[in-house]
Amino acid sequence: MNQTCHKCGYTGDYLEFAYLCKNGCPACGESDLRSCPKCGAHCVFSRAESLEEEEGLMRELSMELSQITKDADPATRDHARRIISRLREMNLRWNIPELSRFLLQRQKELFY
Ligand SMILES: [Zn+2]
Repeated sequence: MNQTCHKCGYTGDYLEFAYLCKNGCPACGESDLRSCPKCGAHCVFSRAESLEEEEGLMRELSMELSQITKDADPATRDHARRIISRLREMNLRWNIPELSRFLLQRQKELFY
């Protein structure tokens, strides 16, 4: 999940941003106050927002992957391989069984 610094524009995985404290409502725990590794500015990281973005991205990547065929050119197949590993990594956070099955199935269809 990525975080962008509002001050210097640095973008990186949110774990690169040092955790300071919970921001806003402490009960819901939805957002953290974190500091930028480049300039030290305090940034709000919203878990809900990031997950929402990630969900949209997963949907797009899955769609793209489902349209790639076995006889596609090597560059496209390479692209498919990258999509599969990216989705697999994201699914470590989501644990969606349907997505795991879809990725396995696509990998078999495209690369065996
Ligand atoms: Zn910054």
